[in-house]
Amino acid sequence: MTTDQRALQPGGRTLYWFRNDLRLGDNPALAEACAASGSLLPVFCHDPAQDADTRWGFVRRGPHRQRFLHDSLADLSTQFQARGSRLLQLPGRARDALPALARELQIDAVVTEDIAAPEEQDEVMALRAAGLTVHTRDQSGLFALADLPFEPQRVPDVFTAFRQSVEHAMVRAPALAPVPARLPPMPAVSNVPSPTPPPACGDARSSFPYARPEFAGGETAGLAHLQRYFSGALAQHYKATRNQLSGTDYSTKFSPWLACGALSARQVHAALQAHESRVGASDGSRWIVFELLWREHFRLLHRRHGRALYRARGLSELSEPSHDAAAFARWCRGETGEPLVDAGMRELTATGYLSNRLRQVVASYLIHDLACDWRAGAAWFESCLVDFDVHSNQGNWLYIAGRGTDPRGGRRFNVEKQTRDHDADGAYRALWLT
Ligand SMILES: Cc1cc2nc3c(=O)[nH]c(=O)nc-3n(C[C@H](O)[C@H](O)[C@H](O)COP(=O)(O)OP(=O)(O)OC[C@H]3O[C@@H](n4cnc5c(N)ncnc54)[C@H](O)[C@@H]3O)c2cc1C
Repeated sequence: MTTDQRALQPGGRTLYWFRNDLRLGDNPALAEACAASGSLLPVFCHDPAQDADTRWGFVRRGPHRQRFLHDSLADLSTQFQARGSRLLQLPGRARDALPALARELQIDAVVTEDIAAPEEQDEVMALRAAGLTVHTRDQSGLFALADLPFEPQRVPDVFTAFRQSVEHAMVRAPALAPVPARLPPMPAVSNVPSPTPPPACGDARSSFPYARPEFAGGETAGLAHLQRYFSGALAQHYKATRNQLSGTDYSTKFSPWLACGALSARQVHAALQAHESRVGASDGSRWIVFELLWREHFRLLHRRHGRALYRARGLSELSEPSHDAAAFARWCRGETGEPLVDAGMRELTATGYLSNRLRQVVASYLIHDLACDWRAGAAWFESCLVDFDVHSNQGNWLYIAGRGTDPRGGRRFNVEKQTRDHDADGAYRALWLT
């Protein structure tokens, strides 16, 4: 646990501030807070900035993300209630909501996960500036920062160099932190009304139908999905199916739960290892690890490059990107006239999910064919995706735009070829364009 100030006071009053770690299992910061504290107040803050419009003219967090988050919080809340406690959901930014609450309840320390992204870091700094003791811990990556064979701020820029470095050093994911055996009692707080659930998308065509209980937000459904995924042969076929465009099974669909932390990457990895020890490793299971390493690399690149990843030019020396607002609006609506792109964009808006292959195709099309600003595309994905994750989204957009750390420049996908390779029979286009 890192902190600027005092150590967690044994028997003290702790406020646990949930962010992208909406789980009880494998949550070391929560486990430590529970073990050390005399009372524990679990809190989630609903930042109104998430429901405001972006500079591109649409809401920052759209309806699919709102609903998946709502369900994730409801599940967490149920779990706290079952253990005699309660999750307090507060309106307002943490910096506005927490200092007064902490003073009122004589809280000794705030514990929260460490998120290496600028806005998230700023929020912690603001709490400290308001006089709170805040303990943070990086806990939603695959590896512990201390186990890496390099300083986290010196992570290799190139993915292959990063992967080889951790493989060579045989870095292992830490053992899972157990669900806290006991939850300290909660201090008395006045009732705050629970937020009303936004509508769920019931589109039967969705590859991630989160309106169905087995794909719902929350740790309970996430763990069940993890168990289900690895109990059959899906992982063994993953490498062969992962580039498909439609269906619930062609890829793991772990990302929405990983994004809000209802599942941890270490839990996924542990389940994968258990699967491999039962049926043996396969190309498919090894490729899932490879993809988790991409996620890890994008997380660590934020530690190395921080705010520079948010500049229009990113890390490159390229000039400011051009932008065509009308073309961007057509792209968002799925009305570019390019059938594969339009089908993908309609799926994204209708369901909040899109295959990795089509994320690459539509992002490339926006940047390289429509000559639009990559940051507008990244913001649209942020608004739509149920699995929006600041590190993976920023990293992938920069990668395709050629403004990140990849030495090979941007990635331009030939839409005609992609259509031939991945939708030769037109089934995907027919699904979304008719
Ligand atoms: C432009 C663009 C934006 C993206 N934005 C996001 C985002 O906001 N959130 C997000 O989680 N992923 C993002 N991705 C990465 C990837 O598309 C999704 O992680 C993946 O499609 C999620 O479905 P899955 O869980 O079935 O993935 P699987 O193919 O089953 O992969 C397993 C896990 O590996 C990780 N992973 C796979 N591919 C990538 C990748 N390219 N980068 C980082 N991690 C990866 C994810 O955690 C995923 O859950 C983006 C990709 C592109 C091209």
